[in-house]
Amino acid sequence: MSIPALDMKAPYRELKSELDAAYARFMESGWYVLGEETRTFETEYADYCGVSHCVGVSNGLDALHLALRAFGIGPGDEVIVPSNTYIATWLAVTYAGARPIPVEPNKRTFNIDPTRIEAAITSRTRAIMPVHLYGQPADMDPIMEIANRHALKVIEDNAQSQGARYKGRRTGGLGHAAAHSFYPGKNLGAMGEAGAVTTSDPAIAEKIRVLRNYGSQVKYHNQYKGFNNRIDELQAAFLRVKLHHLDAWNDRRCQRARQYLQGLQDCPDIILPGVPDWAQPVWHQFVVCLKNRDAVQKRLTGAGIGTLIHYPIPPHLSQAYSDLGYAKGAFPIAEDMADTVLSLPMGPHLSAEDAAKVVEAIRG
Ligand SMILES: *Cc1c(COP(=O)(O)O)cnc(C)c1O
Repeated sequence: MSIPALDMKAPYRELKSELDAAYARFMESGWYVLGEETRTFETEYADYCGVSHCVGVSNGLDALHLALRAFGIGPGDEVIVPSNTYIATWLAVTYAGARPIPVEPNKRTFNIDPTRIEAAITSRTRAIMPVHLYGQPADMDPIMEIANRHALKVIEDNAQSQGARYKGRRTGGLGHAAAHSFYPGKNLGAMGEAGAVTTSDPAIAEKIRVLRNYGSQVKYHNQYKGFNNRIDELQAAFLRVKLHHLDAWNDRRCQRARQYLQGLQDCPDIILPGVPDWAQPVWHQFVVCLKNRDAVQKRLTGAGIGTLIHYPIPPHLSQAYSDLGYAKGAFPIAEDMADTVLSLPMGPHLSAEDAAKVVEAIRG
């Protein structure tokens, strides 16, 4: 591909000297698990999200899972999730022993539709897990209002939106807790696997700290049947470097998104992402909807332009969740998205020239 969907080599090229220095510092430290890099990253990332605690963990899925566990959610409980998310959101609920209850998104923003949440609440509902999908914040005020009225916890899935703002406040600090993924392709990406939970609830932070480390606070004194879900010290060192560049890199994504929005605004047959006036998205993906999606994707591939589909099969129709018994048609908005969404090339290293070529190729 002459224009890849995401350039994975460019981040190292740009930050080589800083990342190499972090690597050397880590290697020479002689301390490879839960050390100074982890503690410092946790403080810096908590500050960034505007919360008082951050606990580094192994990946985004484990972050979601430990957050659910920390709130005591388990067998017999129900957790409301978007019908159109990446399957990890659902899997975390399953890991905890609870049942994911899908709610359809708003078609314009792709995020969970708050007006549909209350109909999904039962006596077993314990939590809502909104996902800030594609870099766009979910509509958190009505979600928090519903949650407070029904005494539910809100756990944000902030895997795709590090740095996004909702009414001026950063995602990751809007619910009772938030889970973050630092998978390499995310806006804040490690050079391997990593994740975190952020919260301003000290008891929840402490419980996650213990759960990630075999359920023990004092070595060999195990309070809970915990997990080995520790963040890797080397990844924490790399993340500290990359956190310093996150806002600048998100700004570059926003510039490319503006180019797409302007260049494609009068294009027939293409539905552009809608940005509410309270949202400051960070464009993890730039997703358009096209009736003739497969043909357009094929044409772009032929022109050397890489695109992706996030996601081709909604979780309720995946083989993994056949046990829940949902038939085709159960969640028509999510199903329609799976058939029509296309993610255009996006990232902090996509040049203005290349974004212009993408616009031209789609218009042609
Ligand atoms: C990436 C992602 C996750 C999982 O993160 P990992 O670090 O890959 O475990 C969870 N939810 C969403 C929405 C994601 O995009």
